[in-house]
Amino acid sequence: MAVIEIEGLKKEYRRLRGGSTVAVNGLDLAVPEGGVFGFLGPNGAGKTTTVRCLLGLIQPTSGVTRLLGVDTQKDLKSVIDRVGSIVETPSLFPGFSGRKNLELLGALQGISRTRVAETLDRVGLGDRGNHRVKTYSLGMKQRLGIAAALLKDPEVLILDEPANGLDPAGIKEIRELLRGLGRDGRTVFVSSHILSEVRQMCDQVAILARGRLIVSGAVEDVLHERSAGGFVVKVPDLHRGLEVLQGAGMEGTIKNGAISVKLAADRSPSITEVLAREGIYLSELRPLEADLETVFLELTRDPAAQGASAQEPDVQDPGSGGRG
Ligand code: ADP
Repeated sequence: MAVIEIEGLKKEYRRLRGGSTVAVNGLDLAVPEGGVFGFLGPNGAGKTTTVRCLLGLIQPTSGVTRLLGVDTQKDLKSVIDRVGSIVETPSLFPGFSGRKNLELLGALQGISRTRVAETLDRVGLGDRGNHRVKTYSLGMKQRLGIAAALLKDPEVLILDEPANGLDPAGIKEIRELLRGLGRDGRTVFVSSHILSEVRQMCDQVAILARGRLIVSGAVEDVLHERSAGGFVVKVPDLHRGLEVLQGAGMEGTIKNGAISVKLAADRSPSITEVLAREGIYLSELRPLEADLETVFLELTRDPAAQGASAQEPDVQDPGSGGRG
């Protein structure tokens, strides 16, 4: 069973003056148990809307959302204690210590001080727990927020853009914390619009654009699938090398001090051959590895990959009242 299951999710926000925005448009997603799952997409892709539907904070227009097998539109109560989340910035009292903040929150949920101390340690704030929150860095505040979401020791942790606004040091702290939580066997679901972040943090990834799923799978697979298309070639004279390769019918460009050639994976020997025939010897030949950034741009720019109707909100229904 997938820990998070989304089937045919659609959310349409009605505008007051008529018309609507389709924020999520027929999304299917299955998040397996354990590890860190990255929910990636540019701003406005529909990530927050999806998370809000999943957590029962807004009602979808149609579709099903399940957490740990439970339909969250119908029976959220029976599962909410097994799920921790941060969707908006958690409200913390800056004048109180991190520990005091957690104790106040915990008291509402019947959580012991021992558990608060344990959680502070888990997020690496054990030694700063008694300091006031207003002395914390943004990264520390975010870790305290994660601690709050962890108080109930949830099986699933859902975080919307947890690294937003953090400096590189803060991002690293969050990354290490979340990786650790994923390794402990928890399922950590994080949305993000920053690819480098997700790449280093996640085991699995799904890419969303304009309310639709574009690709999902293991981070390596998503990258690997896209990396088959070419090679990086280094030769002493790049322009001459490119000319020769193009003469042999290959497509290429000069980029970052090398030639990048579009070619199927099993055809690398022909590069060597074509160049050697002209007396050009390679100093380097390796497969062109698409990084997530490239994959992302490629995928989100190609209208064919998204379905043509995803370009614009495609539903006009000025008659009904708004919700959500
Ligand atoms: P993301 O989290 O990926 O940035 P969102 O889910 O916040 O994306 O937004 C998806 C789309 O829905 C955007 O076009 C956004 O403007 C729109 N949207 C989000 N929330 C609302 C709302 N409450 N009312 C109307 N439109 C909204």
